[in-house]
Amino acid sequence: MNDIAPQSWEARADEFSMYGFTDLPSVHERGAVILTHGEGPYVIDVHGKRYLDANSGLWNMVAGFDHKGLAQAAKDQYDRFPGYHAFFGRMSDQTVLLSEKLVEVSPFDRGRVFYTNSGSEANDTMVKMLWFLHASEGNPKRRKILTRNNAYHGVTAVSASMTGKPYNEVFGLPLDGFIHLTCPHYWRFGKDGETEEQFTQRLADELEAVIAREGADTIAGFFAEPVMGAGGVIPPSKGYFQAIQPILQKHGIPLISDEVICGFGRTGNTWGCQTYGFTPDAIISSKNLTAGLFPMGAVILGPDLADRMQAAAEKIEEFPHGFTASGHPVGCAIALKAIDVVMNEGLADNVKRLAPRMEQGLRGIMERSDNIGELRGVGYMWALEAVKDKATKTPFDGKLSVSERIANTCTDMGLICRPLGQSIVLCPPFILTEAQMDEMFEKLEAALNKVFAEVA
Ligand code: PLP
Repeated sequence: MNDIAPQSWEARADEFSMYGFTDLPSVHERGAVILTHGEGPYVIDVHGKRYLDANSGLWNMVAGFDHKGLAQAAKDQYDRFPGYHAFFGRMSDQTVLLSEKLVEVSPFDRGRVFYTNSGSEANDTMVKMLWFLHASEGNPKRRKILTRNNAYHGVTAVSASMTGKPYNEVFGLPLDGFIHLTCPHYWRFGKDGETEEQFTQRLADELEAVIAREGADTIAGFFAEPVMGAGGVIPPSKGYFQAIQPILQKHGIPLISDEVICGFGRTGNTWGCQTYGFTPDAIISSKNLTAGLFPMGAVILGPDLADRMQAAAEKIEEFPHGFTASGHPVGCAIALKAIDVVMNEGLADNVKRLAPRMEQGLRGIMERSDNIGELRGVGYMWALEAVKDKATKTPFDGKLSVSERIANTCTDMGLICRPLGQSIVLCPPFILTEAQMDEMFEKLEAALNKVFAEVA
C-alpha cells in the first residue's frame, strides 16, 4: 500500500473487506472511496470530499441519496411490520399492494409477480420457472437458455451463465446449455459495407440457425436486456426485437426482458421494451424497483406465462421455490413509494425532458475529441467509447487501461463514472438538473483530455 495511513478508513477497508469487480492493484494504490452520506446526486466520503455520482450508485439510486419520502416509507413500515416472508400461503399487505401495482404499470393486462432479493436471483428464478413449466407441460428437454455475448444478467451460477462475458471462465462457467448469440452492436460488429438493417437480419438469421441446430424443443427461453447495460450501454440495432420476436414466437420460445437497469424510466419510458416497441412474455425487475433503498428483485409474468406457471404449480400443489425475504414488507413499501416518486414526482419526466440535452452535451464532447469513437445510449444511460483511431475504430492497447484511467481521473475531480471495456458509462440519478449535468460534462471532458494527452 502506498501513502495510505495504516489506520485510515482506506487501509481498514483493504485489510478486512472484499470488493466486487474491482481492479485490486489500482485500489491498493489509490485506496477505496469510503462514503458516509449523500445529498441529491452527490455522495460524500470520510474526508468530506463530494462526488457527483453519474452512475447512480450501481444504476439504481435514481432518486438520489437523500430522498426523505423514501426513507420515511421505510421507517413507517419498519414501525408497522418490519419483516415477513411469502411462504406457506402468508404474505404482507404491502406485498399484495406491490404485486397489483407492478401488474398495473407493466405492459401486461394481466400477470403475476414473484419476489427475490436481487436481479441475479430474479433471472435465476425465471430460468427455474421456465424449466418447471416446460417439464410440467411434458417438455422436459426444453432447458437451454439463449442470451447474447456481452449481456449481463447477474452473478449466481445460472445468471452468470446467462451473462456473456469472458471473465466467467475463471468459475468454469457457463454451465452447459447456455448459448450466447451475437451482441447487437452494429458500430462494433457490423461488417464492412453491411447496413444496420442487414446486420439486424444477420442476427435474426443466426437465431433461426441456432434454433434449427439445437432443436426448438430443447430451448426454454431467450433473455435480453432492451439496452445492454453492463455490456457498455448498447442499444439494440435498428429493428432488432421486431426481427427476433416472431422467430421466437414461431418456435414457442418465451422472450424475457431483463429490465433490471432499463425498468422504471431509465430509457425515458417506464420499460425499456416500450422504448424499443416490443411486448415480452415476462419482465425481470430490480435496482430502480426500490430506487436502490432495498435489495429486491421481481419476476413479472405476462398473462400467458402467468397462467402456465399457475397451472404447473397447481399440478403438484406448489411452486417449490422462494427466498426468506421474498416480498419483504419493508422492501415492498419502499418499492410502492419509489414507483410513486419516479412516476409522480417528476423524475421520469425529468429523464424524458433532459435526455436530448444529455445526448447533445456528450455528442459535443465526442466531436471535440479525436479519441471518442462512438456515443451510444438513450434516456439517462449513455456511453462514450474510447478509441486510438477514430477512422478505423482501433481500440487502445488494453494494457494502457484507458477507461480505468479516465474513471480514476474523474474520481479525483469529484465525478464518479464507470469504465466498461473501453467505454465510459454515465447513468446519473433521474433527479439530475441542468446545472449538475453541466458539471458532469465539464469534469468528464477535462478528465478525457488529460488522459488522452497522456496516452496519445
Ligand atoms: N440484470 C441486469 C440487466 C443487470 O444490470 C444486473 C446488475 O447490474 C443484474 C441482472 C443483476 O442484478 P443484481 O446485481 O441485483 O444481482
